[in-house]
Amino acid sequence: IPTILWFRKDLRLDDNAALNAAIDAGGSVIPVYIREPDELNIGPLGGAQEWWLHHSLTVLKGALKALGSDLVLVRGKAEDVLSDIAHKTGASSVFVNRAYERTDYDREIAVALKDKGIAISAFHGQLLHEPDRIRTGAGKPFKVFTPFWNAMQKLGEPHEPMDTPKSIPAPKQFPRSESLDGWDLLPTKPDWASGFSEMWTPGEQGAREKLKDIIDRDLHDYKRGRDFPAIDATSSLSAHLTHGEISPARIWYETRGLPAKTSEDVSHFRRELAWRDFCYGLLIEFPGLDRENWDDKFDAFEWQYDAKQFTAWTKGMTGYPIVDAGMRQLWKHGYMHNRVRMITASFMIKDLMIDWRKGEQWFRDALVDADPANNSANWQWVAGSGADASPFFRIFNPILQGEKFDPDGDYVREHVPELAKLDRKYIHKPFEAPAAVLEKAGIELGKTYPKPIVDHGFARDRALAAYKALK
Ligand code: FAD
Repeated sequence: IPTILWFRKDLRLDDNAALNAAIDAGGSVIPVYIREPDELNIGPLGGAQEWWLHHSLTVLKGALKALGSDLVLVRGKAEDVLSDIAHKTGASSVFVNRAYERTDYDREIAVALKDKGIAISAFHGQLLHEPDRIRTGAGKPFKVFTPFWNAMQKLGEPHEPMDTPKSIPAPKQFPRSESLDGWDLLPTKPDWASGFSEMWTPGEQGAREKLKDIIDRDLHDYKRGRDFPAIDATSSLSAHLTHGEISPARIWYETRGLPAKTSEDVSHFRRELAWRDFCYGLLIEFPGLDRENWDDKFDAFEWQYDAKQFTAWTKGMTGYPIVDAGMRQLWKHGYMHNRVRMITASFMIKDLMIDWRKGEQWFRDALVDADPANNSANWQWVAGSGADASPFFRIFNPILQGEKFDPDGDYVREHVPELAKLDRKYIHKPFEAPAAVLEKAGIELGKTYPKPIVDHGFARDRALAAYKALK
């Protein structure tokens, strides 16, 4: 009897519990990927992620074929597609890895399939640990990261990762697959994703290469360097993790043998990986995380919305170089460095006073690593409305942040080329540069590069007053 193996955000063969269990079940295995309708509660994929998905599915299909199998691609509602395949092939079970952002929906699918005599078995592997294993003394989920991290460390190591199987038993005939090209996941004109392939190789192999990069450099300087966007200190694994092309347990295990001199870097890196588990814990606890303030005190916050200012922010035309560099990196690579995500988000929320949900949606559409848990939890963290959030009154000064974390302006020069020739002293504040300095750098403020769309000092006072009114 065949088993249906349902791939979702676990587009890998390595350390894939559902795949191994499907093989162990003894019959043939039918790997399936279902493109579910956008209006279902898992939400539409952003444009950047559609680009990623197209390439990742291509890679996965190739890898499955190399092991004697294939990937069946079908559009439709999951329960309809799965029961149809089961009906046509005689399968009576579906194996799947748990996807915590859609627990309720998965439960409905399981009930619908059970009525048709089809059983779903779900496996662990998308997080370091199963969320219900990390609990407070009172048996409740953690709402603050540090005690969560302490509890996770007490729990011990994550599971030992499973290797890629040598072969996958194929059915005599695979059910009909749609063509991936017909799914129109790639941008047509204009091809806004043309810069993505400079930075990304979607798929398992690409993930392994990024992992090898950080292992080869022993994660050296991660702890300090991770705050400097011009330094290549972080792993760039987020999009691979989001699509499940590598498991967090695999990453954890591969960082085991690194030299003692970088042990602080390794533990800090693992701590960041644990943030991902933490954010998923928050999402499970509060499925409205992307839509509703965790702290409902913020429901009364008087957000403002100026469409021109929001557009300037999305396009990287605010007149604050570090903000603009971040937003343009996002356009170009579908990615932004973590420090700069915090700066750009703070600018949108606190300097422009735009509701954090607008920014969350923009990031969701533009990031290749857009993640339902990490994105919402981090936006709420910056907004101050989140569970373990940065207090609202801590307002980033975009000039000082730039000077501290991009001291030579290398990051700005890379992403805002019209400022490339500007003196280091003014790279984060061109609006303070004397006319002669601007002229020498070929800059005409208001023409070749915008003047600030808002005065930071004024904006800061306005935000604090709004916050005070709330209290
Ligand atoms: P590394 O520093 O190498 O970290 C390793 C892994 O740990 C990351 O790949 C990621 O999976 C996890 N991680 C690191 N930092 C965080 C964090 N703060 N919260 C949760 N997990 C973390 N991350 C996403 O994966 N998807 C998002 O949609 C997302 N949106 C964000 C929005 C805002 C406003 C902010 C401030 C942060 C957001 N992050 C998001 C978190 C973080 O910026 C990225 O995970 C990180 O920049 C990815 O780069 P990296 O893989 O090189 O990270």
